[in-house]
Amino acid sequence: MQYPDPIAKLIENYMKLPGIGNKNATRLAFFTIDMDDEAVTDFAKALVTAKRDLHYCQVCGNITESEPCNICLDQTRDQSKLIVVEQPKDVMSLEKMQEFHGLYHVLHGVLSPTEGTTPEEINIASLLKRLQTNEKIQEVILATNATPEGEATAMYLARLIKPAKIKVTRLAHGLAVGSDIEYADEMTLFRAIEGRQEI
Ligand SMILES: [Zn+2]
Repeated sequence: MQYPDPIAKLIENYMKLPGIGNKNATRLAFFTIDMDDEAVTDFAKALVTAKRDLHYCQVCGNITESEPCNICLDQTRDQSKLIVVEQPKDVMSLEKMQEFHGLYHVLHGVLSPTEGTTPEEINIASLLKRLQTNEKIQEVILATNATPEGEATAMYLARLIKPAKIKVTRLAHGLAVGSDIEYADEMTLFRAIEGRQEI
């Protein structure tokens, strides 16, 4: 028996989400049908509003409603330090820690020979431009994850940035090898930043 068209469509759309297979998508679709009208409307509105109102900051690549984002705009932050992360989620993790008060740059990915990700496909050109045009930045902290791709990306960036006479540091590996910033607890992150080393 085939599902009626509206539910088949719902399942199909849930399956587009990361980590959701057919079984989970079916479960979510039936759950959605059981929700009351108001909750479904709120859910749909939240999707549309988030997509409509959020974009990536043209300066740092972080997710934002305004342009530039609040962090880029905030002159009370330490303008001499810039931390480079893979994803907007990493900015959230570091901000939650409340110990880093500098600037950010979000790469939106890492270099990966296996997946064929090239420097042009991630936010590197805008980082270099930023470093060239903003002489206040004295230190770039490379906070890509402790995965082979994260390490390779950090080494690649260090080679590009160091000739500009900017100090380049890498997070200390209180972070276990292979671990993601996103999942590190605040104390571990704090130690990783405090113990950062010049590369
Ligand atoms: Zn920004």
